Amino acid sequence: MRKTKIVCTIGPKTAACEQLKQLAEGGMNVARLNMSHGTLEWHRDVIAGIKRINKKFGLAIAILLDTKGAEVRTGDLKQDLPLKIGDLLTLTIRHRAELEPYSVEVSHDGFVREVAVGDIVLIDGGMIRLKVLEITRTDVRCEVLDEGMLTSRRHLNVRGKSADLPAITEKDWIDIEFAIAERVDFIALSFVRQAAAITGLIGYLKEKQAPISVLAKIESAESIPHLDEIIAASHGIMIARGDLGAELPYEEVPLLQDEIVRKCRAAGKPVVVATHMLESMIVNPTPTRAEVTDITHAVQQGADAIMLSGETATGQHPLKALGVMDVVARRIERHLAQDTTVRVKASSQSKEEISRSAAILGNNLGVAGTLVITRRGLMAALLSKCRPVAPIFAFTNTTHVRRRLGLYWGVHPLLVDLSNDPEVSIQRATEKLLRRKIIAPGDRIVVLSDILAGGKFVETIQVRII
Ligand code: PGA
Ligand code: MN
Repeated sequence: MRKTKIVCTIGPKTAACEQLKQLAEGGMNVARLNMSHGTLEWHRDVIAGIKRINKKFGLAIAILLDTKGAEVRTGDLKQDLPLKIGDLLTLTIRHRAELEPYSVEVSHDGFVREVAVGDIVLIDGGMIRLKVLEITRTDVRCEVLDEGMLTSRRHLNVRGKSADLPAITEKDWIDIEFAIAERVDFIALSFVRQAAAITGLIGYLKEKQAPISVLAKIESAESIPHLDEIIAASHGIMIARGDLGAELPYEEVPLLQDEIVRKCRAAGKPVVVATHMLESMIVNPTPTRAEVTDITHAVQQGADAIMLSGETATGQHPLKALGVMDVVARRIERHLAQDTTVRVKASSQSKEEISRSAAILGNNLGVAGTLVITRRGLMAALLSKCRPVAPIFAFTNTTHVRRRLGLYWGVHPLLVDLSNDPEVSIQRATEKLLRRKIIAPGDRIVVLSDILAGGKFVETIQVRII
């Protein structure tokens, strides 16, 4: 059983029911909808497709809606503009004007105030780099540093600066309402700069009684000084390495990835490593060895999930890309399983310490898995934090808790009718594992559950032979 989870972005190449089914069979744990593209109707159809597959095959693929966020883009061009080193290009906020050659609009009016002479502007994450030479009330004149083809509506970043735009845009709010109506499991908020945006959104979802978890995407330069507060405020984190490596120098990305994964693991918050993991497979049927090493690195760090973007959304080989992630993660996990040390600090909190003890016990005994009864998913998340060697069979009675747990490292979430008598729940759960041939008679497992003792519920760790 693979422990590192896989998030697949759904796009034109994977939106049809048959393709979604193939991704499900290939091991997709979470389907990501990128709201930068597609209409609400298009996304609604994808959501319906996934729900149908979940129902038909008894699966629990979670749905993650990723907001567009306050992106800055260049405007439309009548035709593509080839740029050579040393060319001068004007970025302007003169909208609806007839623009002179070598000029293009910028979607964010604050841009002219925020940039300074000498700043580096990146188009398409650095495919074209510009240096700011001169700024007027409406125009920013730049020198082209790298040759490239400028096409319409390209993404634009200023190195080291985050655009001063609303944390959640009008379009994002429309998409958030859509997420609530469609009962998705996760919202990933783009370009988070401070914890307040996350706290605000979580508060709003609570008000609406929507059981949706909120992930903060770390991709803004401005988010880095606020990392600790953002992690504390969020239900989880996505390391959006594409924009992060444009707003900050790309050589900072690996160190930030290390730091963010480490902090999320310490906080017990799920963390997704995203973007460019198998970029070459958008066209090629096989990965570069550097990409295989990048996946390996994320798995070794103990990230909860790794993500495919263009590879599955628009690429030529979506299933092959998923297969590569799956096989590489499994290979590396098999190697890592030799180390049975539980590296979570001792805690004075009873639930934390019980899960840590269960993980240590399971590792030392070499059990086939840990069965945990978890109504809201808390005990399963605490166990996952300990990264035990054997799988965590998390039994809950609500479908949305089951789907949410799909993002957590090592958790195999399943549904069970919970009885008032915990022993009955454990029996039902065990039977399900046997019926599905996930465990076999004679296997030794750890069970983490309440039991009734003298009319009271007592939390227990048990070792059972099936
Ligand atoms: P995006 O975010 O795919 O929505 O741009 C991911 C990233 O920037 O890496
Ligand atoms: Mn991004």
